[in-house]
Amino acid sequence: MYDIAVAGAGVAGSYMAYRLASLGYKVAVLEEHEKIGEPVQCTGIIGAECFERFPFFDGTVLSTTSSAKLFSPSGKEIRLHRDSVQAYIINRAAFDLGLAEKAREQGAQYHLGNRVNNVVVLDDGVMLETEEQETFKAKTAVIATGFGTKIPQKLGLGSIDDIIIGAQVEVDIDGVNEIEVYFDQKLAPGFFAWLVPTSKHKALVGLFSRKNTARHLGDLLSTLFRQNKIASLEATPTYGGVPLRPLKRTYMERVLVVGDAAGQVKPTTGGGVYYGLLCAEIAAETLDQALSTNDFSERLFSGYEKAWRRKLGRELRIGHRARHLHERLANWQIDIIFSIIESTGVHESLLRSPELSFDWHGDAILKGLKYLGPWRRLFTFRGSLKIIQTG
Ligand SMILES: Cc1cc2nc3c(=O)[nH]c(=O)nc-3n(C[C@H](O)[C@H](O)[C@H](O)COP(=O)(O)OP(=O)(O)OC[C@H]3O[C@@H](n4cnc5c(N)ncnc54)[C@H](O)[C@@H]3O)c2cc1C
Repeated sequence: MYDIAVAGAGVAGSYMAYRLASLGYKVAVLEEHEKIGEPVQCTGIIGAECFERFPFFDGTVLSTTSSAKLFSPSGKEIRLHRDSVQAYIINRAAFDLGLAEKAREQGAQYHLGNRVNNVVVLDDGVMLETEEQETFKAKTAVIATGFGTKIPQKLGLGSIDDIIIGAQVEVDIDGVNEIEVYFDQKLAPGFFAWLVPTSKHKALVGLFSRKNTARHLGDLLSTLFRQNKIASLEATPTYGGVPLRPLKRTYMERVLVVGDAAGQVKPTTGGGVYYGLLCAEIAAETLDQALSTNDFSERLFSGYEKAWRRKLGRELRIGHRARHLHERLANWQIDIIFSIIESTGVHESLLRSPELSFDWHGDAILKGLKYLGPWRRLFTFRGSLKIIQTG
């Protein structure tokens, strides 16, 4: 019998496996794919704070960035720049593979090509049943099966009802050397689109949207091609979903849910690597406590949820409300916001303060809304602004 069975060898699952195997526990990782890290459904942008806190990125960095250009629907441009590196663009497949290697070196056993269908909680442990008719018994289980997993729902932990779909392609570029983000309700309704150079000649282009993602990606590529930002229209898209809200409950007796499966993602940007790692760290501490005291009770496991909500709850709440506010903006209102930012210099002031950070957006959102205060009349949904400020 294993001490811990982890379902999913993504960033959250393999980090859990690494931490717990390092503590000497017997860990099994079940991954549905034969190849770790693929297919890639990620742009691979990691903030400097994450990079420094989790030293696992060696050999996976494609490029670094200290700036980004934001574009409004009519083409107004705001450049955010700091002197130091703000984010790293990593090769996500190589990162997942490297993390799994580190977990293996600590003794974690990977069982690839095993898709977990069911997790059954028994009196003396848990049983993970796979589509391939294998069973794995352990004292505890971690569900780290990413976006769209049905396992928490089967366990009675509910499901995530607010999601978006991302689409991305790799393209050839010439002459674009900064990250570009496009806010345009026609190109990426409710969300945003991006062009992220990964080298001098290659970039990832993508967007998030609630529906018609493939059509919007086609329109985005045509627009960028017309603007001579990308060299061709031929590319094979990958699609992936992102949860915008966490699960109501991420624990039960003997079981924890971590990462995208738990909805631990920034609702502002759809970035989930850092929050997934932070929550996996908390989850590993909870499981260490459970295994070392032989206490697998719901009470002990609830400590995980309390701890990660203490760390991320406010961010997720403010981010989620801001996300919905953004969805309701018309293009002309986005243009006005860009004009206000330019004329008041709020971005310069935020860039000088620690409130604007790649990974923590709550304070910057609240400060930005204060600047918008005098222009409230231009927004027909004043109530929403208020809700965020009191959130
Ligand atoms: C288009 C797009 C771009 C993104 N860009 C960024 C970015 O730039 N930066 C960032 O921080 N985040 C980004 N994200 C989000 C990021 O990819 C996720 O938050 C992150 O991968 C979550 O990690 P995870 O370990 O929870 O899940 P995953 O990485 O999805 O890993 C889950 C693993 O579980 C496996 N699995 C699934 N079901 C089962 C099962 N039943 N049994 C066994 N194995 C199973 C999967 O194959 C996978 O290996 C992006 C997402 C999308 C869609």
